[in-house]
Amino acid sequence: MRQRNKPWADDFLQENTHLVIPNPSEHKNKWQEVFGNNNPIHVEIGTGKGQFIVGMAKQYPNINFIGIELAKSIIVTAAQKVQESGQQNIRLIQENAENLNEIFETNEVSTIYLNFSDPWPKNRHEKRRLTSRAFLERYENVLDPDGELIFKTDNRGLFEYSLVSFSEYEMLLQEINLDLHKIQDPENVMTEYEEKFSAKGQPIYRCKAVFRGE
Ligand code: SAM
Repeated sequence: MRQRNKPWADDFLQENTHLVIPNPSEHKNKWQEVFGNNNPIHVEIGTGKGQFIVGMAKQYPNINFIGIELAKSIIVTAAQKVQESGQQNIRLIQENAENLNEIFETNEVSTIYLNFSDPWPKNRHEKRRLTSRAFLERYENVLDPDGELIFKTDNRGLFEYSLVSFSEYEMLLQEINLDLHKIQDPENVMTEYEEKFSAKGQPIYRCKAVFRGE
C-alpha cells in the first residue's frame, strides 16, 4: 500500500489516543476494559486504510475490533475512517505484528483476520510473510482454543504457501475457497485491495483455519 508523507500525522495521533492506542502493551490482558464491555476481541493484522474493520464493526456491533497497522501514514487514514463512522467498537494500534505477544495475553483474542497481506515473494523474505511459522506461533499464543484465523488474498503464490504453512503447523483447515466472489456472500466485508483486485476479475482466495480442532 502506497505510503505518503503526512506531516500532520504525529499531531493527529497525539489528539486521538482514544482511537489509536499508544503503548498498547499496557493493556495486555485488559483490552475489554478499553472497550468497557465483555465482548469478544477480534484482531485484523495489516489493517491498511480501514474499510474492512469499519464494515465489520458495523455488521457486528457486539464484537470489539482491533486493527494493527505498521505504517503511520496509513493508520491515520484508517483512524479518520473510524472517526467518520462513529463506531465505538474499534481501536487501532500502530505496531509491527511481530510484537503481538507483548500486546495480547494468551487466549485473549477470538479471531484474527489477515487481509491481502504483503506477499514478500523472495525466499530470503519468507520470515516477513504474515503466514510464516513464527507468526503462526504468535497467533496460536493469543488466540483462544476455539479461535479462528481467517485469511484472504488475491495472490495465488502466497495462498499456496500459506496453506502449506498452516498444514505443516498441523492447523485444521475449515474452509478453502478458491473464488470467494463466485457466489455472493452477504456477510463478506470487502477490503480496499479486495475491491480493487476483484474489479479486475481476479479471483479472491479465502482460508479459515483453527489451531486445535477437536
Ligand atoms: N488489509 C488491507 C487491504 O486488504 O486493503 C491492506 C493490504 S496492504 C497490501 C498490507 C498492509 O499490511 C499494509 O498497510 C502494511 O503496512 C501492513 N503490514 C505489513 N506488514 C505488517 C506487520 N508486520 N505488522 C502490521 N502491519 C503490517
